[in-house]
Amino acid sequence: MDSFDYLAPRSLNEAFSALGNGKTSLLLAGGTDVIVQLREGRRHCDQLIDLKHIPELMSYKANADGSLEIGAAVPLAELYENTDIQRRFPALVDCATIIGGIAIQSRATLGGNLSNASPAADSSPALMALNARLVIASSAGSREIAVEDYFAGPGRNTLQPGELLLQVKIPAPAPNSGAFYHRFIPRNEMDIAVASSGVAITLDADENITAARVALGAVAATPVLVPAAAAALIGKPANAETFAAAGEAAAAAATPIDDMRGGIAQRKHLAKILTIRALDNALNRIRENR
Ligand SMILES: Cc1cc2nc3c(=O)[nH]c(=O)nc-3n(C[C@H](O)[C@H](O)[C@H](O)COP(=O)(O)OP(=O)(O)OC[C@H]3O[C@@H](n4cnc5c(N)ncnc54)[C@H](O)[C@@H]3O)c2cc1C
Repeated sequence: MDSFDYLAPRSLNEAFSALGNGKTSLLLAGGTDVIVQLREGRRHCDQLIDLKHIPELMSYKANADGSLEIGAAVPLAELYENTDIQRRFPALVDCATIIGGIAIQSRATLGGNLSNASPAADSSPALMALNARLVIASSAGSREIAVEDYFAGPGRNTLQPGELLLQVKIPAPAPNSGAFYHRFIPRNEMDIAVASSGVAITLDADENITAARVALGAVAATPVLVPAAAAALIGKPANAETFAAAGEAAAAAATPIDDMRGGIAQRKHLAKILTIRALDNALNRIRENR
């Protein structure tokens, strides 16, 4: 591994000064991606800026309106151990509990998972389904974007020089809504998705779908939102026929590569099946909570 300086700023302003000091920087949250990449010589920097001592990045809170604000460097385990999050945001728990094992989850963060910009990252489709927004900050101020606008390509996010991801904001779940995330992996743990699907649906009193979001992972150069799958759901009854149509739309939107983890036809088929199953599970969650 190349040598580099290690900086541990205690405030956002200190972090912004470090980012602007003219040296090549990499940010460190849990380090479960970036340390591996540095060690393998895939990434290089003059300085590694540790975000885990900055209070705004290390805290999270539920707001009075039911929304959630999560500092980008909060460990995943801290999130999924919270009973309020378990109850109100189970799709966040779905993704956080399958990223690596417990040791990884004790360090790894949503900020790192998103910023690493892997097409197969587990939090991305789940957060897209949940309609999450990201707060991006720099010495010049902050801006907010939809999570689906954070990805520029494999390993590339849309941060500009001097910026960091500060917060993930998840709106309050609508009444009578449910969400679910899952993935296909060839073995049971410690693997990355061959394909994945995150969905969220809202129903009226007659179980017609009034709102929907569907997102896929590992089937394109970035995680993708699938508006055609949402359109196949909205205004329709929440049943097998409707879910099958959304599954077909998901498969049609998938543009996967063929690699050692899976083939194109397999990944398109998985996009369909995972979407249908995620919708079934989201519907079950709504029914269980009535
Ligand atoms: C054994 C093992 C198993 C794994 N399993 C999975 C898995 O099942 N699913 C999965 O999705 N991933 C998996 N990963 C990858 C990794 O654990 C996750 O992507 C994790 O969420 C990364 O978070 P982190 O905080 O450790 O990121 P870091 O490694 O600290 O950072 C990752 C990247 O994001 C940048 N970054 C971090 N925080 C910010 C910020 N606030 N603003 C801007 N840029 C930032 C860093 O500079 C770096 O480029 C696995 C890794 C290992 C080693």
